[in-house]
Amino acid sequence: MNPPPLSAPVPAYYELRGRLAFVTGGATGIGRAIAVALARQGVRVAVGDINLAAAQETVATLGDGAIAVEVDVRKRASVEAAFAQVLEGLGGCDLLVANAGVSTMRGALDLTDEEWDFNFDVNTRGVFLTNQIAARHFVAQGKGCIVNTASLAAKVGAPFLAHYSASKFAVLGWTQALARELAAKGVRVNAVCPGFVATGMQSREVEWEASLRGVSPQRVIDDYIAQTPLGRLEVPEDVADVVVFLASEQARFMTGQGVNVTGGVYTT
Ligand code: NAD
Repeated sequence: MNPPPLSAPVPAYYELRGRLAFVTGGATGIGRAIAVALARQGVRVAVGDINLAAAQETVATLGDGAIAVEVDVRKRASVEAAFAQVLEGLGGCDLLVANAGVSTMRGALDLTDEEWDFNFDVNTRGVFLTNQIAARHFVAQGKGCIVNTASLAAKVGAPFLAHYSASKFAVLGWTQALARELAAKGVRVNAVCPGFVATGMQSREVEWEASLRGVSPQRVIDDYIAQTPLGRLEVPEDVADVVVFLASEQARFMTGQGVNVTGGVYTT
């Protein structure tokens, strides 16, 4: 974890080659872009998802050495079995990207217990279970790195997503605390906080907001772009490149951070 001496050769790019990663929710959207970006850096990737067929499609684009693993991050037994498959299939693991997540739009006053539980089970319990099971392995081997996908909604309460916001605030609290617990054991834990990213999740949110406001989906997107200082819609690759950095040796002195990747929408 020490910086390289000045005489050391300058790395061509981030130091990640040969690392072994488990990416949850890696079949589509942001998780897929993360799997692709890591594989481009020479990382062997296990793509974990509840949708095994989609995970296999992603793996087919990643080249040799990548594997697909079925996992439901809500369930301890499923995460334990998946992590065992990752260790066997990759020959180890030193990077977890806990990215699987869901959002359902609903006004706080109409929210049901089931919707609250669904968001918390995937977004928060899923991070707890995957982080705990991977971190036990990382601590035992004296090294490892975790990047959790939180959200801008982990820093600012998002209307009609109060349950989602609450579940993501919890992810940031967990990330900060775990980072402080594990720092002395060679394990770094950080989070990325994306803004409004063009994925399947976003399309569902846009449709919902468009029908609430009685405008077209494109108008919802245009309004968001108008509020974004960097002036365009965020794409999954914007998030993936920051995850690559956080996972790399170049981020060796960063832990417990929730890094915004929002085009400047929120800066704290
Ligand atoms: P997405 O719907 O495109 O992808 C989510 C992936 O997670 C899917 O492949 C899905 O099959 C998988 N998944 C869902 N439930 C699962 C479970 N129980 N176990 C395992 N896998 C499961 O969504 P996305 O936009 O790519 O979201 C990825 C992450 O980014 C989520 O944590 C989300 O909350 C977060 N995020 C998204 C946005 C955005 O605007 N899209 C913004 C901020 C944060």
